[in-house]
Amino acid sequence: METANAVEPRVLKVVREPQVYLVGKQVVDPQEIERFLGDHGVTWSTDTEIGGEMLSEIAGRVCYMSYGKGRRTNKEFLEHIVEVGHGSVLEHAVWSFLISGVSRSFTHELIRHRHFSYSQLSQRYVDESESDFIEPDPIADDPELDAVWREAVNAARRAYDVLVAGLQKRFTGVEDKTLRRKLARQAARSVLPNATETKIFVTGNARALRHFIELRGSEHADVEIRAVAVAMLRLLQQESPNVFGDYTLVPLPDGSLATHTDHVKV
Ligand SMILES: Cc1cc2nc3c(=O)[nH]c(=O)nc-3n(C[C@H](O)[C@H](O)[C@H](O)COP(=O)(O)OP(=O)(O)OC[C@H]3O[C@@H](n4cnc5c(N)ncnc54)[C@H](O)[C@@H]3O)c2cc1C
Repeated sequence: METANAVEPRVLKVVREPQVYLVGKQVVDPQEIERFLGDHGVTWSTDTEIGGEMLSEIAGRVCYMSYGKGRRTNKEFLEHIVEVGHGSVLEHAVWSFLISGVSRSFTHELIRHRHFSYSQLSQRYVDESESDFIEPDPIADDPELDAVWREAVNAARRAYDVLVAGLQKRFTGVEDKTLRRKLARQAARSVLPNATETKIFVTGNARALRHFIELRGSEHADVEIRAVAVAMLRLLQQESPNVFGDYTLVPLPDGSLATHTDHVKV
């Protein structure tokens, strides 16, 4: 059988920055809201256009049936919700993100957050021989360490290729081509490093997103997940300033950023 060293290394594609895309948000059905208000003899209007903010306000107001004119702005209403820690109201605001250019170690940390929903690239179905790899800055910035890292990653890639080829031969008796590839890739992936690039779709409500941003935007968090938490916060502050406006970004001595709010775990 071919040995790992016999395979020529392909160009190693290294990624240094995660990409975060805010791909999903909510819409409100104004006719149904009007129907509800009419059925209950009340009127209400709000000054936000953001679906998640509007839904959180409607949900919060149902607790006391506090609809009617001359009330707080949406910003004031949601700020109050955050201040008093009535966080369940924020669970009605939901956003979806696509995150790419991140490592498997990042997603291992991310998926500890149990209130998010996830769909992640499968290493059993997808060929990882052309995968990118995430190199941490302190390694990339040091030529000697960078060389060690590249050698280790290239060795893993060569081993992966050899293992996939060998396992495909081993499973030649399996007629279904897709199953055969899956059987090979699921075993061969065991040699891929934490640095292997992955993509993940994440959906979460504002309460869970706030908790994530607080824990993972903290200076104590790993730099990769902190970079993603900061990127998500930036997108959310643009998208929904009334829910995420209380956060500030604090520069750390290494030049990176951490998140801060006075209202944690609402
Ligand atoms: C700096 C840092 C270092 C870490 N180091 C480690 C480590 O060394 N090893 C390790 O294993 N993990 C580590 N973690 C992960 C950490 O332990 C949590 O698993 C992770 O941060 C998810 O947060 P969470 O537990 O608040 O839960 P989430 O899933 O985000 O849930 C949010 C909140 O919902 C409530 N909740 C959710 N599920 C339950 C439940 N089943 N029962 C009761 N309440 C629940 C809790 O109030 C929880 O805080 C680290 C996290 C950070 C930020």
